[in-house]
Amino acid sequence: MVMNIILLGPPGAGKGTQSGLLVTGHGMRQLSTGDMLRAAVKAQTPVGLRAKAVMEAGELVSDEIVSDLIDAELAAMGAETGAIFDGYPRTQAQAVALDDILAKHGRQLDHVIELTVDEDALVERITGRFTCGTCGEGYHDRFKQPAVEGTCDKCGGHEFKRRADDNEETVRTRMAEYRAKTAPILPYYDERKLVSRVDGMADIALVTTAIEKVLRG
Ligand code: ADP
Ligand code: AMP
Repeated sequence: MVMNIILLGPPGAGKGTQSGLLVTGHGMRQLSTGDMLRAAVKAQTPVGLRAKAVMEAGELVSDEIVSDLIDAELAAMGAETGAIFDGYPRTQAQAVALDDILAKHGRQLDHVIELTVDEDALVERITGRFTCGTCGEGYHDRFKQPAVEGTCDKCGGHEFKRRADDNEETVRTRMAEYRAKTAPILPYYDERKLVSRVDGMADIALVTTAIEKVLRG
């Protein structure tokens, strides 16, 4: 069955980590607007040039830009591949846009999984986060170190990087944006009985097990 799911939660909740595991285990595709925007910034496209300063400040990029990115990705994807929305939608306007985009591509939303986490833990998670510069695999200084120090478990790469916006000050702004603009979209999905809550404070593997249970229905 082709599934379309949203992983919702504040920065550092584990959306990217869990998306990666679902991609590997279920052949779904991760659609991360944050990753798409970072690629656009790196390539200095018009979208990247507009988004760069907003992202560095921890504020939200315009609804139109991110919804257009999602629309284009879904247009390029085969109908047989399920989608995991990671970091999108983040506002009510994006949630409404996603309904239209999914309908346009003959898809429907199956689950909204909210990863619940203590805010205090998020700063530590985000300031300790790093990724492989070659394949993008995610790591953490304390919670998920590579098996061999300095070598990516997945691709064997030796270059790692940290995000420009993963500092304590920006994290606070990103959390405030989440509380003000993203958490309020949950009732929109609650009304449609689409929301399942998963304890995002548990170990990474246990969070995956809990998500898989939701997906099995
Ligand atoms: P998000 O995509 O929601 O911003 P990430 O998946 O990048 O969050 O996770 C943030 C950081 O926390 C990463 O360094 C990741 O390795 C780590 N992490 C993710 N899930 C857990 C967990 N359940 N327990 C401890 N650390 C975690
Ligand atoms: P993320 O990788 O999800 O943590 O996103 C990093 C940054 O990209 C955010 O702080 C925003 O500036 C921007 N961004 C990512 N996704 C969205 C979105 N759906 N709406 C608005 N801004 C976004």
